[in-house]
Order: sequence, then C-alpha cells, then structure tokens
Amino acid sequence: MKKLVGAGEILVEIMAERIGQSFLEPGPLLGPYPSGAPAIFIGQAAALGQPAGLIGAVGDDDFGRLNIDRLRVLGADVSAIAVHTGHATGTAFVTYRADASRHFVFNIRNSAAGLIETNAAATKLLAGADHVHVMGSSLFSDRAITVALSAIETVKAKGGTVSFDPNIRREIMQASGMREALDQVLAQADIFLPSGEELFLFSSATDEKGAVDELLARGLSCIVLKKGAAGAVYHDHHGAVASPGFAVDEIDPTGAGDCFGAAFVSFWLRGAAPAEALRIANACGALAVTRKGPMEGIFPLEAVEAFIATGNTQ
Ligand code: ADP
Repeated sequence: MKKLVGAGEILVEIMAERIGQSFLEPGPLLGPYPSGAPAIFIGQAAALGQPAGLIGAVGDDDFGRLNIDRLRVLGADVSAIAVHTGHATGTAFVTYRADASRHFVFNIRNSAAGLIETNAAATKLLAGADHVHVMGSSLFSDRAITVALSAIETVKAKGGTVSFDPNIRREIMQASGMREALDQVLAQADIFLPSGEELFLFSSATDEKGAVDELLARGLSCIVLKKGAAGAVYHDHHGAVASPGFAVDEIDPTGAGDCFGAAFVSFWLRGAAPAEALRIANACGALAVTRKGPMEGIFPLEAVEAFIATGNTQ
C-alpha cells in the first residue's frame, strides 16, 4: 500500500466548555486533547489502515507524550516526530461562538512545533513516502514552509503525489511568506481539498464552477469541495460527483475536514472510484463531529464501514 506523509504542527487543544465563553476572563476548560491539523489527518489515515507518518516536533512534556502516544495507538509512524527539551508542545485554545464560528488562541511558531525540520528521521520517512499531504495552517513560519516544500519536492521527484487542504486559520494567516507558500503548494498539488470560501482565495472567479474550472486548468487532478453537513462534491477533468453527508448530531466540528481529507486521500491512493472515496470521507467527517476533541472522533475502518451500513445520509 502507498505510504503517505504529513508535515506540520502537533498541538494540544484546550476548549472553552461553554458556547460564547470568552478567553478574557477565567472559565471552565476541557482538554488537553491531541491535535494539530496534520496530526489529525495522519491519525485518521493510519486508523483506516493506510501506512502514514508525520514530520513534526513536540516538547519533552506531557502534551508531547499525549500526542505521540495517540498517534502510535492509531497506527501512525511517529519516527519523525522530534522531541525537544526546553520548548513546550504547541497549544491551541478554542472557543465556540453562538453563530457556530470558532475563535482560536494559538501558540505554534514559538513552541516546540516551530522547531520542525527535515532532520535525518524525516529524510528517512520521506524516502519511503509515495504521497505528501500539506495543510495551509502548517505554513506558519519560514522554517515550516521549507519543510513542507522540500517534502513536496522529494516526493514529486520520485513520481509521488501531493494533496493540499488550505485549512485557513485567520489567527495565523499573517505569518510572513504564508500567502506565497499557499500558492506554491497549490501549484504542485494533485488533490485540492478546500472548504467553504477557501476555494475563492485561489481563483479570480466569483462563482464555484468558474473557480473549479480555472483551478483544474492549472494542473490539479481533482478538487474536492467540503460542504459541512451537506457532504462534498468531487470535480475532475471528466465532470463532477456529489455525495451527501451523513445525518449526525454535531458536538464539535474541529477535525472534520482533516478526517474527511485523510479518508479521501487514503482511498484515492488505493485507486477507489471518486464516489466510494467520498462516501468513506463523508462518514469519517460525520463521525469526527460526534465527539468533543479533534481526534476523539477518529475511528478504524471497520467502525466506519459499520456506520456507513447503518447511517442515514442527509
Ligand atoms: P472543514 O472542517 O475543513 O471546514 P467541513 O466543515 O466542510 O470542512 O467538514 C468536512 C466534512 O466533514 C464534510 O464534507 C462532511 O463530510 C463532514 N461533516 C462536517 N460537518 C458535518 C455535520 N454537521 N454532519 C455531517 N457531516 C459533517
């Protein structure tokens, strides 16, 4: 089976317990939960049985151990996660607003996550990789951008493929060089996985079809538009395939896009037809939102298949 590799931020997430709770005053918190978009992605891919490993860095602390242990239990290759003393594992504090939007306080660049590098273990992991997945949120510093672009270069040089999820977080969007790096990654991607308005950040078109056509013409193999509870739509040079979402009670949306993407890419790498890859991806995205905590809703393939067999689509 093809091996996929991710590179980027490994964090713990700490969540405000109440909707609308402000971080400007003390309040009840939940967590720590293992997190970081690329970590969620690699964890979900591994849980589906895809060989998958992550390049990243944590501190020599409980938060770092929580992440490494979780990824290991899910079956991911953790050999390229560096453990640094003197730097704490990265954190993301999140509070949910009444309108369902989220507000984050991140500590990534100045945490252990910021020490990401293509060291000997990362080079070894990439030597065995067929596919690299990049998240926009992972382009948070010059150093992180260098790691992502060199991973792409290594994997592409041997005929491998690339997927890209912009995963735009306004709180880190201002990082220097991020905008250019987002465009550079997109230019080399085979699979593009935007959600909501992210599609329009990369196109001059103002309508969905125009943007999809423009981006496909630039060399992507396919675009998968994530549409929350409504599911997803796949586009390639032959046409489009829509797939409805599964009906679930949403408890926590964080991680849905990462779990969805991991499932889609894993099944694309296995040669699945778009409709099948979308069905598994929608199931993983739906399951992800049924649990508090971004990685708590990661399930193994058997559980995902059982959910599909009994679940209702929207
Ligand atoms: P992102 O998390 O990247 O913003 P979405 O919110 O579109 O992306 O979620 C990704 C996928 O997760 C969706 O395409 C869908 O398959 C699934 N999903 C998200 N929210 C729900 C929900 N409330 N009910 C069912 N499925 C959902």
